[in-house]
Amino acid sequence: MGSLDSTEFPGLGDRLAEVRSGIADACRSASRDPEDVTLIVVTKFHPAALVAALAELGVRDVGENRHQEAQAKAEELAALGLDWHFIGQLQTKKARQAARYARAIHSIDRERLVDALADVDGEIDAFVQINLTDDPARGGVAPDGIEALAERVLAAPALRLRGVMSVAPLEEEPARAFERLAGYADRVRALDPEASAISAGMTHDYREAIAHGATHLRIGSAITGKRPEPR
Ligand SMILES: *Cc1c(COP(=O)(O)O)cnc(C)c1O
Repeated sequence: MGSLDSTEFPGLGDRLAEVRSGIADACRSASRDPEDVTLIVVTKFHPAALVAALAELGVRDVGENRHQEAQAKAEELAALGLDWHFIGQLQTKKARQAARYARAIHSIDRERLVDALADVDGEIDAFVQINLTDDPARGGVAPDGIEALAERVLAAPALRLRGVMSVAPLEEEPARAFERLAGYADRVRALDPEASAISAGMTHDYREAIAHGATHLRIGSAITGKRPEPR
């Protein structure tokens, strides 16, 4: 692990502070308590040393979207006791491995994945990922499959259903997409009042997500700076 002096990642602390104050502003505008909003800093493609620097700045929740990379970083930084959120497409055959380091999986998009995780050791927070587009190639379950998938999660001993997750489609006004997502979140909450979380909002749309009830923001580049090319 590299040293944690501020010169290693110039501007990191300032960008983090800026996003935190942006979140506070958006919460104020939406008459929401910032305590109800968790910031997950997405660190994909960045080195473990950057995650360590973020931890030094008080970050506890980090998000990763590729299993091998996440596993390596979580292992290297195990002593920091961070909460790792898996936010990417997860292969069924990698699910049990991801369950060893992930405190939460935001990309629960099919019943086979639920079945693969159902009896792992420990307890994992599960978010049902919903596809807000008409394109089945995009990640997430189609809206008409939400209840069946959520029920499957509720029946899985190792999973704790937290709520819904989505990525706003590029071709649509984020506010409209998040409004729809809030409606889907209501449907999941109707199955279990504890499953009230909404994982939504990224660098370019977190303010709109907060206005529409997001409880878990997944923000990367606004904090980390430009992502290196994936290796
Ligand atoms: C990369 C990623 C993010 C963060 O994106 P930024 O635009 O860098 O904030 C959030 N959610 C998911 C699912 C991602 O893959």
